[in-house]
Amino acid sequence: MYLNKTVLELHELLVSKKVTPLELVNEAIEIIRSDDCKAYEATNFDAAIAKAKSIGEIKKGEYFKGIPYVAKDNFSTAGIETTASSNVLNGYVPLYDAEVISRLDKAGAILLAKTTMDELAMGGSGITGHKGVSKNPYDKSRIAGGSSCGSAIAVSRGEVPFALGSDTGDSVRKPASLVGIYGLKPTWGRISRYGLFPFAQSLDSVGYFARSVDDLAILTTLLAGYDEKDMSSSTRSSCNYLKESQHSDKKVVGYFPSIVDKLENKKITESFYRLIEKLEEEGYKVVRYDFNQDLLDAIYPAYMVISCAEATSNDANLDGIKFGIKPDGSARTWEEYMVSARTRGFSSLIKRRFIIGSYSLLAENQHDLFLRAQKVRRLIVNAVNEFFTKCDYLLLPTAQNVAKKIEDASDSWSKKPEYIDNHMAIGNFGGYPSLSEPLGYFEGLPYGVNITSRQFEEADLFNFARCIENIVGLKNSTVNSHKEGI
Ligand code: GLN
Repeated sequence: MYLNKTVLELHELLVSKKVTPLELVNEAIEIIRSDDCKAYEATNFDAAIAKAKSIGEIKKGEYFKGIPYVAKDNFSTAGIETTASSNVLNGYVPLYDAEVISRLDKAGAILLAKTTMDELAMGGSGITGHKGVSKNPYDKSRIAGGSSCGSAIAVSRGEVPFALGSDTGDSVRKPASLVGIYGLKPTWGRISRYGLFPFAQSLDSVGYFARSVDDLAILTTLLAGYDEKDMSSSTRSSCNYLKESQHSDKKVVGYFPSIVDKLENKKITESFYRLIEKLEEEGYKVVRYDFNQDLLDAIYPAYMVISCAEATSNDANLDGIKFGIKPDGSARTWEEYMVSARTRGFSSLIKRRFIIGSYSLLAENQHDLFLRAQKVRRLIVNAVNEFFTKCDYLLLPTAQNVAKKIEDASDSWSKKPEYIDNHMAIGNFGGYPSLSEPLGYFEGLPYGVNITSRQFEEADLFNFARCIENIVGLKNSTVNSHKEGI
């Protein structure tokens, strides 16, 4: 059994020829075939085996050469059916690779499969994909969280050491917390989104799952950097994040008591405060910071208006003409053709979001809804930037409880959503880098802690996350190996 190791551990074994890429790929295929959590949409086994066979000598520092991985099904992959877990894209086989897929390919990583997600990345439960509900490896009667559910499951089950996801509101960080692993959303623009199907372009980031801070750091070193094919990608230089994150500066940590003290699960609150104590013992200054409650309450409504408006516009091309499913035979005009494809192609959850988006973009509503939501977003970001003049890191529990039972996890809006469930959209509003890492277990189910820092300060973020990793002691946990946490 090798794949329950981190990328860096596997790299050592590959360099010293204790294992070959082909052995790793064969092991991964066997575990993926035993998937009982519904993590996959499509497999790429033949190409993966061929690639593993073609890999020669692996030198020290070629971290990804020969390492198997999986990617969320909203990354364009040449020759592999890619549906974003939506019926509207059934049968769509892209002609090109997303930039992150090409970079990993060039670095020698081996793509094994495409993973299940909430339809078109809209959702937080992992239960809305077109082919069924994804389940939590720790308890199959519970959700894995979404929208990047399949990638999170794969890393948690020890099928692969890392996986690609995407994060618009929390879609990497929340499932990472619910399945006991690490998930990062880097700074907006830090990593090319060329070939990532857009959900809401002002919020979307490529993200990834791993089982250690160091693995997140080496992935960031590989994937960060300007790409001329993505107009929103940053020209700022990137760095060797593993090296740059090794300093011993102790910075200032802030948290919002209005979130920490009001979690549904008080055990998570207690565990959070134990972490705070340990951080103080380590020499960190910790600040209780009262963040404006009206702004916290406004996060979710502003997120919904902005993300649904952008999604309506981005997904207008899913019309049955260019991509995916064809309409039924009765359509005679272009309009009937599109209506037929979109009616059958999208689930009711997606249609509801398109209605919200279209409504807020209507000329007569734009001022009161879309533009007002943009202003609220600016106020929230200004307040967070103010926080970052006093503190270097925002530390919060990732989620207010462990994974819910599947039957309790409807993605409908019948209940008023709480700001505590949606605070991580702060990271997307301001484009800040933000990650979740394991903190502990409640009745055998994992929960995480969330760190957000200033834009482009990923190296410091990893430095702080590594300190927490050492305190908590949950590096490289899989479902079969989990320990205590704090
Ligand atoms: N849960 C959020 C939503 O439903 C976030 C989704 C995401 O980050 N892709 O929109």
